[in-house]
Amino acid sequence: MTGTPANGVELRGRELAAALREEVAGLVRAAGTAPRLAVVVATADEASLWYVRSIAKAAAGVGVACDIVDLGAAAPVEGIRATLERLSADPSVHGVMLQTPLPEGASAQELAGAIDPAKDVDGANPLSLGRLAAGLPAFAPATAAAVMALLDRHGVELRGARAVVVGRSTVVGKPLAHLLLDRHATVTVCHSRTRDLAAVTSTAEVLVAAVGRAGLIGAEHVAPGAVVIDVGTNPTADGGLTGDVDFAAVIGRAGALTPVPGGVGPVTTALLLRHTATAAGLP
Ligand code: NAP
Repeated sequence: MTGTPANGVELRGRELAAALREEVAGLVRAAGTAPRLAVVVATADEASLWYVRSIAKAAAGVGVACDIVDLGAAAPVEGIRATLERLSADPSVHGVMLQTPLPEGASAQELAGAIDPAKDVDGANPLSLGRLAAGLPAFAPATAAAVMALLDRHGVELRGARAVVVGRSTVVGKPLAHLLLDRHATVTVCHSRTRDLAAVTSTAEVLVAAVGRAGLIGAEHVAPGAVVIDVGTNPTADGGLTGDVDFAAVIGRAGALTPVPGGVGPVTTALLLRHTATAAGLP
């Protein structure tokens, strides 16, 4: 494929994330006013709380105010909904995000419907996905947007490219399929019922794994020279993270591959801040 990096390139996200954060910091300085992001939390899940703290830290670094609205792991559904409605109506808040997991019985998709689409910086309101699908302006989920930003940063030609997305969640797989289609890729979406996954994925020039199964994608799933983006974040026994792609097996076969950690994750956080700046009216 023309315009793709040479074999075995590691597509790191940290440099892109730093450039995006620098851009946001510059916009905030020029505007002289701090965009405000509110993150609603209703969990005691340590990994989730760590992620929220990392958003707050990144926000502080670029001059974005970040309020962590912690309702506790036993928060009632109606309390979460009322909080999202209150923040959506608050003119001092520009971005609203609902962190998962949620208490038992609470549906993230149902509740995200209470986030004003104009403040839906993580593209969680089903209206945002509908608008994306219709080709209308909307915030894409930051993770799906991060995959596109990484592909663009590395000059991957998408027009006419065969793209395969493994995973069909509303958070990653489905919005990403729309973003890729919008850029004129020929898109196939795989999931847990796909027959002979390797037969499908090995046709891809651009392969995205967004599943949540460590090492699911091996060398046999990857066409020589393909660009592979690994969205998966799977905890390892030693407290680290690993992706859905068997990095050691695939790096020598793929044209390029994102590492985990240090690939999609940092770009996701930076784009949340970029979206918040946009929601605050910054250019
Ligand atoms: P999810 O809601 O659990 O969706 C997983 C998808 O993978 C589903 O569509 C499922 O198919 C499919 N799947 C499961 N097993 C499969 C198999 N053996 N073969 C093919 N497809 C299979 O997960 P998610 O929220 O999209 O997240 C996916 C991964 O990305 C997770 O590791 C998550 O931690 C990570 N993530 C990372 C970031 C980041 O910023 N880096 C952000 C969000 C998520 P069915 O639909 O048929 O069940």
